[in-house]
Amino acid sequence: MTEPEAGRARLLEGGPIAAEIRAAVAEDVATFTASRGRPPGLAVVIIGRDAPSTVYLEQILRGCAKVGIAGRFAELEGQATEASITSAIRDLNDDPTVDGIIVQMPLPPSIRLRAIVDCIDPAKDIDGIHPLNAGLLRLGYDGFLPATAHAAVEILRRSGIEIAGQDATVVGRSAVVGMPAAFLLVREDATVTVCHRRTRDLTEHVRRADIVIVAAGRPGLITGEMLKPGAVVVDVGINVVDGRLVGDVDFESASRVAAAITPVPGGVGPLTNALLLTHLIRAAERQGRDALALISGDSA
Ligand code: NAD
Repeated sequence: MTEPEAGRARLLEGGPIAAEIRAAVAEDVATFTASRGRPPGLAVVIIGRDAPSTVYLEQILRGCAKVGIAGRFAELEGQATEASITSAIRDLNDDPTVDGIIVQMPLPPSIRLRAIVDCIDPAKDIDGIHPLNAGLLRLGYDGFLPATAHAAVEILRRSGIEIAGQDATVVGRSAVVGMPAAFLLVREDATVTVCHRRTRDLTEHVRRADIVIVAAGRPGLITGEMLKPGAVVVDVGINVVDGRLVGDVDFESASRVAAAITPVPGGVGPLTNALLLTHLIRAAERQGRDALALISGDSA
């Protein structure tokens, strides 16, 4: 964590936390591989190589390779039908060497999200998009969390930011980021407001927050003038402006008012990828246990 200059917010960097997490995952992967005789496996379903998220997905596979996870693309052609995608996912559900499945998002416009999401085995759904995992989160049970929302809250926890009892405002209510981040904050005992594009007075809700998580996909949406002095700001946004990667928060003005802020890039992003690996090893260990339970059942 970088110490602040006078009048500047403390920088909450995801990189060092991600490195710690990856080191722990590498140990768990080594133990798993030694005991099971195979590495944990991740399959990334990709529909057409030129999809915008390909770079991000390649990054995930590189992260897997570094810690000894067998990651691979399950590649379908760009014109693939819904039936061929669901059939490929079902094959991965049945493949005992695949412990986790991620599907490229956004899907091509002709493919219905729900049809794809519903057919992922919830036990292999390491990015928490299946309705079962979403429901478990909503009820406060232990399922797979969407990795980005998990990272947005985990960066606060691991940076020693108090969450319990704080007023938090989440800007964005998507199923993959905003809403799960809000549920996680509630689980951590924050008092949470969720804002969205129809919110009447965004500034009012942001200004009373001790913690602001922003996931709107709008560069510069949140400025320093909107923040309560001393607030903690987590910027989930990833936008390209003039060839540069920026978040949803105007970093320059916000870092003069906030007590702590995540940079973009280098904040939530690196932590998202590292947490995804922890979800994968957990899925692998769980499936291993189920398989072992069946074996001992057979021999009883
Ligand atoms: P989305 O488009 O699905 O949802 C955006 C949300 O923001 C919506 O709920 C919308 O109502 C709200 N919103 C839009 N304009 C607003 C405004 N002017 N005022 C208030 N609310 C407004 O996007 P998403 O998938 O949730 O992603 C959000 C951002 O997070 C994007 O920039 C995306 O690139 C980024 N993202 C980052 C990571 C990461 O690892 N850091 C991962 C996924 C997405």
